[in-house]
Amino acid sequence: MERPADADLALVGAAVSALRRGLGPARHPTASAARADDGSISVALGLKDVLCAEAAVVSAVLATGRRVTTIATVKHVSDDATRVLAPCPSCRLVLQQHAPAARVVHLAEGLRVSRVEALP
Ligand SMILES: [Zn+2]
Repeated sequence: MERPADADLALVGAAVSALRRGLGPARHPTASAARADDGSISVALGLKDVLCAEAAVVSAVLATGRRVTTIATVKHVSDDATRVLAPCPSCRLVLQQHAPAARVVHLAEGLRVSRVEALP
């Protein structure tokens, strides 16, 4: 586990911005931002009860021919609060299979960054 760099914190900010652009937590309770190997940032919204944001953003990055290097996901908490969310078991599998080198921003006594297999 490492402390997040500014680039990792920028991903959290991009995910928060995406969540705020969405149609609200009843439709989009989560948003993910992923940095690709060329440094670009992609964002995606979770679709409530249908699709996790992590899976959506990994798929979007792969569709551009790039690879995910870091991913951050946030969850709606209230109108002015979000929380960094660790990937669910299904999304951990998505990351292991489709973004095996990715680092994941997560909460563990503050924000930390870990490879998916090292997540608590
Ligand atoms: Zn998930």
